[in-house]
Amino acid sequence: MINGKEYIERIDALQNEVWIEGGKCTGKLSELTPFKGIIKSKAALYDYQSQPENKKLFQYSTSDRKIGYGFSYHQPKTVEDLTKRRLATQEWARLSAGLMGRSPDYMNTLLMTLGMAAPHFAQDQKAFGDNIKRLYEKARDEDLSITHTFINPQVNRSLGQYFDDTNVTAAKVIEENKEGIVIQGARLLATQGGLTDELLVLPAGGYTLDDSYLFGFMIPSNTKGLKFLCRESFCYRDSRFDHPLASQFEESDAIVVFDHVLVPWECVFLYKNVQIVGDMEEATGMYTFLQFQAICRQVVKVEYILGLCELMGEAIQIQEYEHIKLKMSEIITTLEIMKALLVASEVNSQVNQFGTLVPDSKPLKAAIQYFSVAYPRLIEIIQMLGASGLISIPTEKDFNSEIQEDLANYLQGANVNAKERVQLFRMAWDIGMSAFGSRQTQFERFFFGDPVRLSSIHYNRYFTQPYVNMVLDFLNEREE
Ligand SMILES: Cc1cc2nc3c(=O)[nH]c(=O)nc-3n(C[C@H](O)[C@H](O)[C@H](O)COP(=O)(O)OP(=O)(O)OC[C@H]3O[C@@H](n4cnc5c(N)ncnc54)[C@H](O)[C@@H]3O)c2cc1C
Repeated sequence: MINGKEYIERIDALQNEVWIEGGKCTGKLSELTPFKGIIKSKAALYDYQSQPENKKLFQYSTSDRKIGYGFSYHQPKTVEDLTKRRLATQEWARLSAGLMGRSPDYMNTLLMTLGMAAPHFAQDQKAFGDNIKRLYEKARDEDLSITHTFINPQVNRSLGQYFDDTNVTAAKVIEENKEGIVIQGARLLATQGGLTDELLVLPAGGYTLDDSYLFGFMIPSNTKGLKFLCRESFCYRDSRFDHPLASQFEESDAIVVFDHVLVPWECVFLYKNVQIVGDMEEATGMYTFLQFQAICRQVVKVEYILGLCELMGEAIQIQEYEHIKLKMSEIITTLEIMKALLVASEVNSQVNQFGTLVPDSKPLKAAIQYFSVAYPRLIEIIQMLGASGLISIPTEKDFNSEIQEDLANYLQGANVNAKERVQLFRMAWDIGMSAFGSRQTQFERFFFGDPVRLSSIHYNRYFTQPYVNMVLDFLNEREE
């Protein structure tokens, strides 16, 4: 396991090709305003896992090694293992109020599921199985951080798009040689793109008859020809008072461009095999584990929202009103539903063919579906509770200026002074209204995929026959 300093030094040394606001980043990424907050917050996670008192929860060892590995690389085999994974994930998530969608455990977890299912990839070529196992072990041994791109550019989403790809937009293989495969084109949307050690790529969803889009590999973020094109930063100022959340957890999102990127064969674990791709989730449990991680984090996020709304209510004394109680109850209901679904997935987990104990996917799928709708509603509740309080939010500079007495008088709360009240409402604004907060809402709606298509898949794969039989039996009994 690494600590924060090691993580920062490693990212700075990579010199990844990162572009933002018309310029290519030079120097240390950890010192640039758009990225320094999130890099520091990630470093804090690595420091936390390294502290002696946290080792029990955050480390595990294998029989052949004395030194501990990070918890998210661990292959769970018992329900206790899954519970420990949940507790560690949530303890990390609490350090970012559940706002860091891509804490390192997200992708490490994915790599664990792929690495443990190496024989699945070896069915095509033995080397592919060896490669994913080695990539997993390397990431585990070096405690690497990873980002990913699973989506093709949003150029043309009509069903026939792949049949006319005369201009290469979606990343595809344009050459295959002795050293590896050459990739040209782009992919969406790597959160923390350029700020991690490695990039993991899997086939984008949807249908294609063209197998040059079917590949899975992991390469260092500084591979030649790899460019990360970042959106503008939503952290406009460093001040923790003014931007309590964005200043720390603005993750950045990047379009990934592959400009004739040579991916060495030893980094490839999946190639032009529809069957391997089609059976991948079933064999590895990868999406189920990603959902498990995500829902652990989302529970923490709702805990913070509940605490925040309670404090806002107290600050301006609105808790006595029925509709406020109703809204608070909605938040509590969301929290309890998410917690229950998470635990249900642990209780009904099953060991797969590779010895990994996989959580039950049914409650996790339900939670992902539910949260993409529940989260925007929680944000709406914050807006309804805060009203103009989310707008009357002077900055730290205002509180240090000539108008400070006016502010102290007119912005005080029922039980807090003006500065405390504004600090609280700034936090509510940053999660509910700022550019950072809006991006959070869009993230929770879409990060796991398009909720519309996910619900179709959810329905298509849900085994409804037992319930149909129940109704048929019921009707037949009546007739008799
Ligand atoms: C903040 C944020 C961070 C993200 N981070 C990552 C990341 O780190 N890595 C990563 O790989 N991805 C990431 N994503 C991408 C995410 O996976 C996609 O947004 C999601 O899969 C939806 O794809 P899309 O954005 O291309 O939307 P589109 O597929 O273009 O959909 C746009 C609209 O068209 C509709 N639509 C399109 N096609 C169909 C269809 N076939 N049937 C029905 N309706 C359709 C959709 O319902 C939607 O309303 C991120 C997204 C966001 C918003």
